[in-house]
Amino acid sequence: MHELSCPRCNVSLLRVKSANGWIHACQQCQGRSVAIPVLRKRVGREVALEAWRLADESESLGCKCPACARPMTLIHLPLGSTVVDIDVCKSCQTIWFDRLELEQLPAEKKSEPEPTPCKGSSQVAKEAIAMAELRLIAEESEGASFDLDRPTVGSPFGNFMQFFR
Ligand SMILES: [Zn+2]
Ligand SMILES: [Zn+2]
Repeated sequence: MHELSCPRCNVSLLRVKSANGWIHACQQCQGRSVAIPVLRKRVGREVALEAWRLADESESLGCKCPACARPMTLIHLPLGSTVVDIDVCKSCQTIWFDRLELEQLPAEKKSEPEPTPCKGSSQVAKEAIAMAELRLIAEESEGASFDLDRPTVGSPFGNFMQFFR
Protein backbone atom coordinates (compact mmCIF):
# COMPACT_ATOMS: atom_id res chain seq x y z
CA MET A 1 0.00 0.00 0.00
CA HIS A 2 1.41 3.37 -0.98
CA GLU A 3 1.62 6.20 1.46
CA LEU A 4 -1.44 8.38 1.94
CA SER A 5 -1.04 12.13 2.14
CA CYS A 6 -3.24 14.72 3.78
CA PRO A 7 -5.43 16.53 1.20
CA ARG A 8 -5.22 19.71 3.30
CA CYS A 9 -1.58 19.80 4.42
CA ASN A 10 0.09 17.49 1.87
CA VAL A 11 2.04 15.67 4.59
CA SER A 12 2.09 11.89 4.97
CA LEU A 13 -0.73 10.43 6.97
CA LEU A 14 0.07 8.27 9.96
CA ARG A 15 -1.45 4.78 10.00
CA VAL A 16 -3.14 4.33 13.35
CA LYS A 17 -5.25 1.55 14.75
CA SER A 18 -8.67 2.66 15.97
CA ALA A 19 -11.15 0.50 17.85
CA ASN A 20 -12.83 -0.27 14.53
CA GLY A 21 -9.80 -0.88 12.36
CA TRP A 22 -6.92 0.95 10.70
CA ILE A 23 -7.36 4.60 9.82
CA HIS A 24 -4.94 7.25 8.55
CA ALA A 25 -4.51 10.42 10.52
CA CYS A 26 -2.86 13.77 9.82
CA GLN A 27 -0.77 14.95 12.71
CA GLN A 28 -0.96 18.55 11.57
CA CYS A 29 -4.68 19.16 10.96
CA GLN A 30 -6.06 16.07 12.77
CA GLY A 31 -7.91 15.01 9.63
CA ARG A 32 -8.76 11.35 9.27
CA SER A 33 -8.88 9.07 6.27
CA VAL A 34 -11.26 6.17 6.87
CA ALA A 35 -12.26 3.29 4.61
CA ILE A 36 -16.00 2.62 4.27
CA PRO A 37 -15.83 -0.81 6.04
CA VAL A 38 -14.16 0.85 9.05
CA LEU A 39 -16.77 3.62 9.09
CA ARG A 40 -19.49 1.00 8.93
CA LYS A 41 -18.11 -0.63 12.08
CA ARG A 42 -17.86 2.75 13.76
CA VAL A 43 -21.33 4.18 13.03
CA GLY A 44 -23.32 1.22 11.81
CA ARG A 45 -24.44 -0.04 8.44
CA GLU A 46 -27.33 2.40 7.95
CA VAL A 47 -25.22 5.52 8.46
CA ALA A 48 -22.49 4.22 6.18
CA LEU A 49 -25.08 3.43 3.51
CA GLU A 50 -26.64 6.88 3.94
CA ALA A 51 -23.21 8.48 3.47
CA TRP A 52 -22.71 6.43 0.32
CA ARG A 53 -26.19 7.33 -0.98
CA LEU A 54 -25.63 11.06 -0.32
CA ALA A 55 -22.30 10.91 -2.13
CA ASP A 56 -24.04 9.33 -5.07
CA GLU A 57 -26.54 12.21 -5.26
CA SER A 58 -24.17 15.05 -4.41
CA GLU A 59 -22.54 17.22 -7.05
CA SER A 60 -20.36 19.16 -4.59
CA LEU A 61 -16.68 18.76 -5.18
CA GLY A 62 -14.70 17.94 -2.07
CA CYS A 63 -11.01 17.70 -1.44
CA LYS A 64 -8.52 15.43 -3.16
CA CYS A 65 -8.72 11.79 -2.05
CA PRO A 66 -5.79 10.96 0.25
CA ALA A 67 -5.71 7.40 -1.09
CA CYS A 68 -6.17 7.69 -4.86
CA ALA A 69 -5.85 11.48 -5.44
CA ARG A 70 -9.15 11.66 -7.33
CA PRO A 71 -11.57 14.46 -6.38
CA MET A 72 -13.87 13.45 -3.56
CA THR A 73 -17.54 14.36 -3.14
CA LEU A 74 -18.53 16.67 -0.31
CA ILE A 75 -21.60 15.57 1.63
CA HIS A 76 -23.47 16.81 4.68
CA LEU A 77 -24.22 13.72 6.70
CA PRO A 78 -26.99 14.15 9.30
CA LEU A 79 -26.10 12.35 12.49
CA GLY A 80 -28.63 12.64 15.26
CA SER A 81 -28.84 16.32 16.14
CA THR A 82 -25.73 17.35 14.21
CA VAL A 83 -24.56 17.35 10.62
CA VAL A 84 -20.98 16.54 9.70
CA ASP A 85 -19.38 17.62 6.45
CA ILE A 86 -17.31 14.79 5.08
CA ASP A 87 -15.64 14.02 1.76
CA VAL A 88 -16.38 10.70 0.11
CA CYS A 89 -14.23 9.12 -2.59
CA LYS A 90 -16.51 7.13 -4.85
CA SER A 91 -13.51 5.65 -6.65
CA CYS A 92 -11.83 3.88 -3.76
CA GLN A 93 -14.44 4.09 -0.96
CA THR A 94 -12.37 6.30 1.29
CA ILE A 95 -13.92 8.94 3.51
CA TRP A 96 -12.10 12.04 4.67
CA PHE A 97 -12.98 13.67 7.96
CA ASP A 98 -11.70 17.11 8.80
CA ARG A 99 -10.42 17.83 12.26
CA LEU A 100 -12.28 15.83 14.92
CA GLU A 101 -15.29 15.20 12.70
CA LEU A 102 -14.69 11.48 13.10
CA GLU A 103 -14.63 11.84 16.87
CA GLN A 104 -17.99 13.60 16.72
CA LEU A 105 -19.65 10.58 15.20
CA PRO A 106 -21.78 8.63 17.62
CA ALA A 107 -20.43 5.13 18.11
CA GLU A 108 -22.66 2.27 17.15
CA LYS A 109 -24.67 0.92 20.07
CA LYS A 110 -22.49 -1.34 22.17
CA SER A 111 -25.43 -3.62 23.00
CA GLU A 112 -25.47 -5.01 19.48
CA PRO A 113 -23.64 -8.31 19.19
CA GLU A 114 -20.32 -8.35 17.36
CA PRO A 115 -21.07 -9.74 13.93
CA THR A 116 -17.58 -11.11 13.28
CA PRO A 117 -17.30 -14.19 15.55
CA CYS A 118 -20.59 -15.80 14.49
CA LYS A 119 -20.52 -14.59 10.89
CA GLY A 120 -19.32 -17.91 9.49
CA SER A 121 -21.94 -20.06 11.16
CA SER A 122 -24.85 -17.69 10.47
CA GLN A 123 -23.79 -17.51 6.83
CA VAL A 124 -23.83 -21.31 6.67
CA ALA A 125 -27.26 -21.38 8.33
CA LYS A 126 -28.57 -18.78 5.86
CA GLU A 127 -27.31 -20.85 2.96
CA ALA A 128 -28.90 -23.99 4.38
CA ILE A 129 -32.24 -22.18 4.69
CA ALA A 130 -31.91 -20.84 1.15
CA MET A 131 -31.16 -24.34 -0.16
CA ALA A 132 -34.13 -25.79 1.74
CA GLU A 133 -36.37 -23.10 0.27
CA LEU A 134 -35.07 -23.80 -3.23
CA ARG A 135 -35.79 -27.51 -2.77
CA LEU A 136 -39.32 -26.71 -1.60
CA ILE A 137 -39.94 -24.50 -4.62
CA ALA A 138 -38.53 -27.21 -6.90
CA GLU A 139 -40.73 -29.86 -5.30
CA GLU A 140 -43.78 -27.63 -5.57
CA SER A 141 -43.22 -26.90 -9.25
CA GLU A 142 -42.52 -30.58 -9.92
CA GLY A 143 -45.81 -31.44 -8.27
CA ALA A 144 -47.58 -28.81 -10.32
CA SER A 145 -46.17 -30.05 -13.62
CA PHE A 146 -47.08 -33.62 -12.62
CA ASP A 147 -50.68 -32.51 -12.25
CA LEU A 148 -50.59 -30.68 -15.55
CA ASP A 149 -49.16 -33.62 -17.47
CA ARG A 150 -51.50 -36.20 -16.04
CA PRO A 151 -54.73 -34.65 -14.86
CA THR A 152 -56.37 -37.22 -12.63
CA VAL A 153 -60.09 -37.57 -12.26
CA GLY A 154 -61.06 -36.39 -8.84
CA SER A 155 -58.51 -33.60 -8.62
CA PRO A 156 -59.93 -30.13 -9.23
CA PHE A 157 -57.75 -29.77 -12.29
CA GLY A 158 -58.81 -33.17 -13.67
CA ASN A 159 -62.48 -32.29 -13.29
CA PHE A 160 -61.86 -29.03 -15.02
CA MET A 161 -60.21 -30.80 -17.98
CA GLN A 162 -63.04 -33.32 -18.28
CA PHE A 163 -65.48 -30.48 -18.72
CA PHE A 164 -63.84 -29.68 -22.07
CA ARG A 165 -63.67 -33.18 -23.48
ZN1 LIG B 1 -3.57 17.69 7.44
ZN1 LIG C 1 -9.95 7.60 -3.52
